[in-house]
Amino acid sequence: MNAIERDNEYIVGTYGRFPLEIESGKGSIALGADGKSYVDMGAGIAVNTFGYADDVMNAAITAQLAKVQHTSNLYYSEPCTLLAEALSAKAEGLKKVFFGNSGAEANECAIKTARKWGKEHKGAACNKIVTLVSSFHGRTVTTLSATGQDVFHKNFDPFTPGFLYVPANDVAALEKAIDDTICAVMVEFVQGEGGVNVLDPAFVKGLFELKKQKNFLVIADEVQTGNGRTGKYFAYQHYGVLPDLVTTAKGLGGGLPIGACLFAESTASVLGKGDHGSTFGGNPVVAAGALSVVKRIDDALLKEVAEKGAHIKSRLEGAEGVLSVTGIGLMIGVEVVPDAKKVVAKCLEKGAMFLTAKTKVRLLPALNISYPLIDRAIDILLAAIKESL
Ligand SMILES: *Cc1c(COP(=O)(O)O)cnc(C)c1O
Repeated sequence: MNAIERDNEYIVGTYGRFPLEIESGKGSIALGADGKSYVDMGAGIAVNTFGYADDVMNAAITAQLAKVQHTSNLYYSEPCTLLAEALSAKAEGLKKVFFGNSGAEANECAIKTARKWGKEHKGAACNKIVTLVSSFHGRTVTTLSATGQDVFHKNFDPFTPGFLYVPANDVAALEKAIDDTICAVMVEFVQGEGGVNVLDPAFVKGLFELKKQKNFLVIADEVQTGNGRTGKYFAYQHYGVLPDLVTTAKGLGGGLPIGACLFAESTASVLGKGDHGSTFGGNPVVAAGALSVVKRIDDALLKEVAEKGAHIKSRLEGAEGVLSVTGIGLMIGVEVVPDAKKVVAKCLEKGAMFLTAKTKVRLLPALNISYPLIDRAIDILLAAIKESL
């Protein structure tokens, strides 16, 4: 049996995979078991911040691996403290961090914190969280519940109670939803899985004005948008606001599993000893790799991300078969005339890996992808769109 046959035989069928086995890679080029090379415009869904087999990250990981691969959280360990310090500096105002292993876990931590904050500051009934329609917050029972998409709310009920959904960019609907039982509003500043929808600055302004009037927390789910993806370290930094809790994951570990929940002063002392934990959270090898990633996301790289994003947009906007282009930095959604899934399948045949988000083609390449590779991938995308019309 080859990997595809063995996968079909032994792995539970939760994924609709493309017919490609990725064997190795370097930078933004993936090498398939079919002997072909592919330009990777998905980066493992915004995870491989510096592409495949990155030398700097590999050196950081292997150096730590030779020392300690894991300690329990009953002892102190340096790598996660250095990572927390570095993240705290990037977040400018969110000082403390809790480490888990995934985006969903980071959100679970934020949700627990918001509920405890609500009880302590506004009473036992203050435990509900408003999220947005078309949001995506994860696959655990509680984060599915937080996710504002009906397709996720089938078959797995009963869901965790205490979530309500309002349409994005509708300040009036948000205002109507807020009462004394609401402890937090959770948003993605750019919705990823929901279709690369950028939140309206007026909506964000309205949200923070309401927060001031009605006293609730704002949770930014930056699992996908964080770590330089949009051309700022975090997407909330485009809006000049400071959330009370920020969650991140995907690009943070550069390809190794990690999630983090960051706490502003308003929430830094809500969780105390015994309130939360994770066996693997803050793992030294993963933290050492993540530290090497965070350190390299500096102003020069962020500027490059913004410029590359602008270049991609300029090549796609107004092109044949392209209806609209949304997103910021290297998080881009392309509404196309043909079926997006068909276009992406055709791109793969032609040697480029793209993603979809709802009805759009989605681009989430490594932040250090080169211009020639961007252009090669965009040429393929434009040809695939044209051929699918
Ligand atoms: C991917 C994603 C999650 C879930 O992350 P996992 O690591 O798969 O648990 C949560 N929120 C957003 C915005 C995401 O894009």
